[in-house]
Formats: sequence, structure tokens, C-alpha cells
Amino acid sequence: MIIVMRKGASKSELAAVESRIAELGYKPHVIHGDTRNVVGAVGDERGKAVLQSIESMPGVENVVPILKPYKLASKEVKLERTVVEISPGVAVGGDQLVVMAGPCSVESEEQILETAHAVKASGATVLRGGAYKPRSSPYSFQGMEEEGLKLLAMAREETGLPVVTEVVNPRDVDLVAKYADVMQVGARNVQNFALLKMLGKLDKPILLKRGMSTTIQEFLMSAEYILSEGNQKVILCERGIRTFETATRNTLDISAVPVLQEQTHLPIIIDPSHATGHASLVPSMCYAAVAAGADGLIVEVHPHPEVAASDGPQSLRPADFQVMMTKLAEFAKVVGKTF
Ligand code: PEP
Ligand code: MN
Repeated sequence: MIIVMRKGASKSELAAVESRIAELGYKPHVIHGDTRNVVGAVGDERGKAVLQSIESMPGVENVVPILKPYKLASKEVKLERTVVEISPGVAVGGDQLVVMAGPCSVESEEQILETAHAVKASGATVLRGGAYKPRSSPYSFQGMEEEGLKLLAMAREETGLPVVTEVVNPRDVDLVAKYADVMQVGARNVQNFALLKMLGKLDKPILLKRGMSTTIQEFLMSAEYILSEGNQKVILCERGIRTFETATRNTLDISAVPVLQEQTHLPIIIDPSHATGHASLVPSMCYAAVAAGADGLIVEVHPHPEVAASDGPQSLRPADFQVMMTKLAEFAKVVGKTF
């Protein structure tokens, strides 16, 4: 249910509504709007009619059901777009087009530092790099683990770029959170609800990737797991879905951008690297993403893709990344994003 407060309702009226919601066995989530506040009451759908009585409390305008199965992610609860701040001056979901770039995996000090400097010089504002890798084969490189996290921290120190890195296992959440500015949930973990709940307790941005077989509704339900635990800093990422097509690694669902923007206030970025699997296809998908209204991109870049420990074929060389970024600026201008 959504409890819509009157314009000018007092703080104590709002607090009374929050405690009444809790008394009735629901969790109150206050969403502060420009003109009025609303309170989402989330919990067991079956007994929610009891919440209707809140309508007679002082300061309350009305109580309306949330029709979507996802509640806090829905535009029914919050019309204003969520802007997720990653570091001072870098925010996803507002006017900026945020480009995150770096290797699939952190491999060595030299590799991550060289890449970090190169992507920064081309205009990326977030460094990506995997220290824990969810590989399809147990025999493939699994990542440098904490050593990789330390190298990412070193690269941040040198370049000032905040870092996004994946947490694969719930038991590593605290460790990864010690180093990461943004915690990535990979496509394979989009429905790892234990992991999502733990991330919902952090006060840190979460980059949630869509699974390769996840519908948009399921994707938003996964975001809801994080939001319902209290963490509102969720960035959605479309990274291609599995279809019958084999010419590309996945099929980039570009329509996910406007569809999600109709359904949710959360920011949405595109990963053209995992979507296509081929470096030559990445730039055109970056332009398409921006044209479709994406808030940002996450792009794999490697100084020597031919020797990359993972995802070399889809990684751009720094020189090609730079060319792409120059052209991207023109697309950003057309859609009115700063870049
Ligand atoms: C990655 O970002 O390197 C990755 C493994 O992505 P995904 O979870 O989208 O496959
Ligand atoms: Mn990868």
C-alpha cells in the first residue's frame, strides 16, 4: 500500500504513520518528494487491507494499493528518478552519462594501472574490474580474489576513479565492500536472494545485472529484494539475454531501457561487451544505448585483449575505446546528457 501524506503534513504526523504501519506488521519506507511525502507499506500481501485504516490518521491524504508486484522499485511509489551517487561528482540517473570501463578481470598491477589510466584519459569516470569471476567452467581463471581487490584500490588511489567490482558469494560481501565503491551482482546471481538481501543492508551502490533468462518483471523483483532491506542505491544493468541467435554472445535487449524507464525510477545502464561478445560490435551498441536513453555504460577494455585471462574477444583496446568515447560525446549531446 502507499500512504500519501498531505502537502505540509508535519514530521510528527509522518512518524505516527510510520509507527502505525510497523504496529500492523508492515515495513514503512518513506519516500521524500518535492511537494509531499509518501510512505510505502510493504509486507505480506494477504492482510494488507488492515492498512486502509491509516487513511483516517492526521496528515494522511489517502491510502492506495500498489498494483505492481514490485513495490519500492515501482513508479507508483516514486515518480522522480533515482540518482545514485557513486563518488563526489559521479552520479548515475541524472544528467550525466556515466561510463564505467576496465578489464573483465584484474590480472596484475601493471594491467589494471595501465587500463585505469587509459580509460580515465578517454573520459571514463568509473573503473571496472573483476576480482571474483563467476566462470561457466570451474577450470577457467576464477579471479585474483582479495589480491585483485587490493589492486583495484591501488588503481583508485592513483587515478581517483571509483571502482565497481563483482561479489559472487554472500560470504565475501563484507570483504568486497571494504574495497569497492559499487558492488556488482552478476547475471548469474540475479536471483541469489540471500546475496541480494545482504546487499540490501549496505549503504553502497549496487550494480544489478539482468540475468540472461530473466524477464523485466523478475529483474525488478530482484531489485526489490535490495530495496526492501533499506538500500535504495540500485543501478540496473541490461547485459544481453539468451535467444536463438548465435552470431552474438547474447542479444542486447535495447528496448529494456525505455521499458524499464516506464516501470521504475531506478537508473539503467547498458553492458555492450557481454551483450555482443565481440569488440567490433561494442561501439555501435554504445551509441544505440545512449540514443535509447541509458544513463550509462559498462564497457570491457584491456590493453592486450589477445592475452586477457577472460573475455578478451569482447574487450576494446584503449585506442579503440578512445575513438568510441569521442563519438559517444556527440550522441550524449543529442540526448542532452553531460559527458
Ligand atoms: C562481468 O561483468 O565480467 C560479468 C561476468 O558479467 P555478467 O554477469 O553480465 O556475465
Ligand atoms: Mn567479462
